[in-house]
This record gives sequence, structure tokens and C-alpha cells, in this order.
Amino acid sequence: LIMMSILLSMVCQSKPLTNSLYHKLLSLPIADNLHVDSESIGAASVDFGLIIRETPVAVLRPSCPKDIATLIAFTYNESSIPLTISARGCSHSVQGQAMARDGVVVDMASLGNRWFRTTVSWSWSLGHYADVGGQQLWIDVLDETLKHGVAPVSWTDYLYLTVGGTLSNAGISGETFRYGPQISNVYEMDVITGTGDFLTCSPNKYPELFYSVLGGLGQFGIITRARIALGQAPKRAKWVKMLYSDFSAFTKDQERLISHHGRDQDEALDYVEGLLLMRRNTDSWISFFSFSDHQRLISLVTEHELLYCIEVAKFYDGRTQSTVDKDLEMILKDLSHDPEFMFEKDVAYVDFLNRVRVNELKLRRQGLWNVPHPWLNLFVPKSRIADFNVGVFKNIVLKNNITTGLVLIYPMNNDKWDDRMSAVIPDEDVFYTVGFLHSSGFEEWQEFDLQNKEVLLFCEDNGIKVKQYLPNYSTEREWMEHFGPKWRTFKESKALFDPKMLLSPGQRIFNRN
Ligand code: FAD
Repeated sequence: LIMMSILLSMVCQSKPLTNSLYHKLLSLPIADNLHVDSESIGAASVDFGLIIRETPVAVLRPSCPKDIATLIAFTYNESSIPLTISARGCSHSVQGQAMARDGVVVDMASLGNRWFRTTVSWSWSLGHYADVGGQQLWIDVLDETLKHGVAPVSWTDYLYLTVGGTLSNAGISGETFRYGPQISNVYEMDVITGTGDFLTCSPNKYPELFYSVLGGLGQFGIITRARIALGQAPKRAKWVKMLYSDFSAFTKDQERLISHHGRDQDEALDYVEGLLLMRRNTDSWISFFSFSDHQRLISLVTEHELLYCIEVAKFYDGRTQSTVDKDLEMILKDLSHDPEFMFEKDVAYVDFLNRVRVNELKLRRQGLWNVPHPWLNLFVPKSRIADFNVGVFKNIVLKNNITTGLVLIYPMNNDKWDDRMSAVIPDEDVFYTVGFLHSSGFEEWQEFDLQNKEVLLFCEDNGIKVKQYLPNYSTEREWMEHFGPKWRTFKESKALFDPKMLLSPGQRIFNRN
């Protein structure tokens, strides 16, 4: 404790924390779990984006949820304490959203598997469901649920994200059109609010807290447990990619594939995504294709400049491969892709879900994972996606010719989202997610940042009402516009559950220091 006191006082010298505050922090029963060494502080000052750096005064490594409640209750009850608190999942945010300048970062990973290791249960009303820790990675949830022959139904592309982190945003992927985002598949949560209260919430119990927290950008409480929906786990995935040079044929087919009208189970796909293929980002879409196919594609892209690729999957289990092939043939038969450029794979379900990991490991080996990520993720209304194609893909992205990394584009159904939740989407039955997943050198991220701003400006000037996913704003006006009619409820919930505005300051919504 003496060592900690010296270290904490050294760190605090340049910070607005008073001597009395850190002595009080040290007198808390969680003092042993507060870390101020440079390694802990350094790790909590950066994120996957490697663009923003905010230094906290301490990192809490809780050994149980009560440690988090103790920290929050102390901060809440001590008047005039300039301390904020941020839960940090894996810090896979890209704009400092999980940081807390001069505050305390709660390193959720330290809860490990001691708290709410995934438990699978069954009830008449819910069928199979799992209770999972807010700190858990989706890959661990998958591993555990598969032991029972079941799995969550809605995913993210990448599974090394935490449950609490994705539920604070939405959690989207190619399954969203059918099952909704991950936030639409939650039955109940344990949340420690900004007053240090530990509440179990659901649509029937503290519904304001339940709906506010889902998509709530960490503003109302720290999720320590979530009860999530499960379905029977398939064993394999039939995975197909199809190429288009014509944008309207591409979007028409994507929209057709996500419309479930008149489709029974066998006729529906499980996963629909899409991406942009350009000469400059060939590396990011190479892994799916064989060497010779990839060469063919590169020459095709060189000829067309811009191609669009629909990516679909159908999961299966008991049925034979030929039955799935027939189902798929029926589903894809009237599409307008070029049949010469249709590529198929049959892979284990787990390998399909964990597909991004292969790329991650490859990029890590090449030293290209821990680099800046000036990402921009948007939801674009269906009615303006053609204008977006011309104005953004053709006139900005192709012209600037700097875009490396994946560019995702795929549609979702509005009716799979719950408007009572905090997450914000366009007001149309169908909307697209467009993700510019740039990676850049340490010196060049500003170039991408400028392009992102150009894209947003184009949308604003042309009245394309996009919503940012994983939003990044800094003024109240921007946040008001982002939330639109939900802003009032969002603010009221903040006043109710985090009245002193302690939580997730890195989102820069209420606590813009
Ligand atoms: P963090 O970045 O650590 O935290 C995000 C926010 O949530 C912060 O404000 C933080 O304070 C808050 N928070 C964290 N834990 C909790 C908690 N337990 N309770 C309350 N608040 C909490 N997203 C998708 O939807 N779909 C994808 O396919 C997808 N793919 C991705 C691929 C990669 C390679 C990366 C880096 C990110 C991807 N994301 C995707 C984005 C991801 O969902 C967000 O980064 C999200 O924030 C989850 O990351 P995290 O668990 O590390 O949370």
C-alpha cells in the first residue's frame, strides 16, 4: 500500500486529483486491485484505433462485480470528485470510447471466468438461453454453448469482442437481417449503475434501464451479466460469394435475399453480407479465394475498377450436403450475378463464425494488426444507397485511391431492431451498413480521417440521412442530431442512472473534458 501510495501520488501530481482523494481511494477495500504502474496506465490509454490517447489515473482490476460497485458508489457519494469511470472490454473501439482521461478504467477482463462463466439453461418460455459475463469474449461464449449443442443466433464478424462492449453498441453481422442485432437477443442483464446500485433489469423489471443500456454506449451502467437467446447449433456452413459489376443489380439481389416474406426455414439464408472489391484493397479479400481465382479477380477488378461481392451462408446440420446444395440453388437461382464468378466453400460452423481470426493472426505476423484504424461505420437508408454509391464509392473512394482494408456493405431489416433501445438506425424499412475498415500507417491516418469527413460532408450536403454506427461525435449538437427523437429519453435515463455523469466519458456525450 505504501508503494501504491507513492506511485499514485506520482501519477496524480500532474492530474486534477487532490491528495485527499487518492488517500481516500487507497482506503477503499479495493485498493489492492487499483493499479497505477506505467504498464497498466499505458495499456488503458490506447485502443484498437491507435489514434486517441487518454491517460487515466488508475486501472481497477476487479475480482468481482462488487469491486466495481464499490468504486462507483465511492465516486458517486464523494462530492466534488473530478473522477470518471470507464469499463474497458478489449478496447476494440477506435476513437477512445473505452478511455477515461484522469479517471479510472475498469479492466473487465480481470473478472475472467470467475464471474458468470457461461451457463446454459432451458425454460418453457425462453427455450435455450445462456447467462454470460459482461466481460466474456464471444468466442468463449461460443465454445461453452457448443458443448450443449446450442449457440447464440446473432453474431459480430469478429469474436474477440466482449459481451458488454458489443451490447453497448448493437452487435451486427450477416445474421442481423434475420435475427436482429445482438441487442435484440437479450432477455435480462445485471447492471451496476452510475450510483453504484446493482440492478437486474429486463423488459419487465427496470425496463427503462434495460432498454437504455442496450446500445447505450456505456452511459447508464456497467453490464456484469447478460441472459442471451440461443438456438440449436448447426455443424457446418455452406459459404458462397458472388460478383457483380452493376450496383443496382447487387443491391436488388441483396435486398431480395434478406426479405423473408414467403420463405420457410429451408428457403432462408442464415447470413448475408457484401463488400467492395477494388484494386487497392485486394489483400483484404484474398483469404477466401484460391490463388488462381484470386488472380482472375485481380484482373477483373483492374478492368472494372470497382466490383461488388455478395457473401452468403447457409448453416446446416442433420441434412446431407446435397440437400443444402439444392436449397441454396433454389435461393440463388434468379439472382443476377455472373455465374462464372461464383465461389463456394463448405466449412465447419465454428470456422465460419471465427473467420476473421485467421486474418487477424496473419496481420499480426506481418506487423499490420497494431496499426492505426481510422474506421468509419455508417447506416445508410435504402432509398439513398444508389446516391451513396455514386457520390462516395465512385467519386470519393475511387478518386482518392487510398482505401486499403475491407469495405463492407450489406442491408438489414428495420423490424428486427427494437426502437425502445438506445441504438439509433435510419427510419426506413431496410437500411445498409457501410463499414470502411481502414488500416493505415502511423503517419497516414489523417488522410483517411479526412476522407471519412469528406464522406460525412457529402451525405450532409446531399440530405442522405446516415447514422453512424460506433458513433464518434464531440459536440452536444451532433449527439442531439444523432439520437434525434431518442435524445430526450437518453438524457432522462442519464439523469436517472448516472446523474453525476461518471460513466464512459470516452464517448464524449455528456462528459466532454
Ligand atoms: P470496448 O471498446 O472496450 O468498449 C466499448 C464501449 O462500451 C466503451 O464505451 C466502454 O466503456 C463500454 N463498455 C465496455 N464494456 C462494458 C460493459 N461491460 N458494460 C457497459 N459498458 C461497457 N462490431 C460489430 O457490431 N460487428 C462486427 O462485426 C465488428 N467487428 C469488429 C472487428 C474488429 C477487428 C474490431 C476491432 C471491432 C469490431 N466491431 C464490430 C466493433 C466492436 O463491436 C466494438 O469495438 C465494441 O466496442 C466492442 O469492443 P470491446 O468489447 O473491446 O469494447
